[in-house]
Amino acid sequence: MKRVIAGLVAAGLLLMAPAPASARVPSAPDQPLAGKLILLDPGHQLGNSNPKFAKKMAQKKFNGSIVKGCNTTGTATNKGFPEATFTWRVAKRLKRILEAQGARVEMTRTTNSYDDWGPCVWDRAGMANSLKADVMLSIHADGASARSKGFFAIAPGLIKGWTDDVVKKDRRLATAMIAGMAAAGATPSNYVSKQLMISRTTTGLNFSNVPTVTIEVGNMRNAAEAARMSSSSGQRQYAQWLAAGLDRFFAGR
Ligand SMILES: [Zn+2]
Repeated sequence: MKRVIAGLVAAGLLLMAPAPASARVPSAPDQPLAGKLILLDPGHQLGNSNPKFAKKMAQKKFNGSIVKGCNTTGTATNKGFPEATFTWRVAKRLKRILEAQGARVEMTRTTNSYDDWGPCVWDRAGMANSLKADVMLSIHADGASARSKGFFAIAPGLIKGWTDDVVKKDRRLATAMIAGMAAAGATPSNYVSKQLMISRTTTGLNFSNVPTVTIEVGNMRNAAEAARMSSSSGQRQYAQWLAAGLDRFFAGR
């Protein structure tokens, strides 16, 4: 008994002693993402459409469901603003927002250039795996019919030997992104039920061993969304919505 009391006193003293700086950081209200490693994956690459990289783009791999190619060109607005450039700009803005919240942020590509290609989607997932990222977020925009609008999440289906180790966390991430983005004011998709698409054939999702989600943030073929995507204030808004989704996910841990 005496020993227990002594132990409690010691514990009390320990609690009163100032915590080491490293232990205090995660609870600081302005650094909610301290200690988190987030891999941002801006979809596509400008040079994916460059004919000199056709052979690179034609590389193929089995993804657990089907055989698919290295990467694609992505879509564009009707005025020709490319998805690759849009996702690149949003990712750069989002990186700064997340870093300001204390996160370490890495990117799957470090250029947006007609003279660069890829990386292949399986290599992007490979980066998430070797970094042991807490989250990989793939940022895309859709090219749907003109009246379609709003964001939705794509999460992987259950594939034995591929996604079974992480599929529940993937789903929790997608659900948190949807709730967090909607609460922050992002337009929910009017063409994907409950803003959630389950895909068995998305290579990056299947290759990733860490919680991963693809967000189609809007439809580049919808005039209003195309205008927002093409402006720097709109790009900032999309980055803020994505940050709200990630904040929701990490707050739920
Ligand atoms: Zn895309």
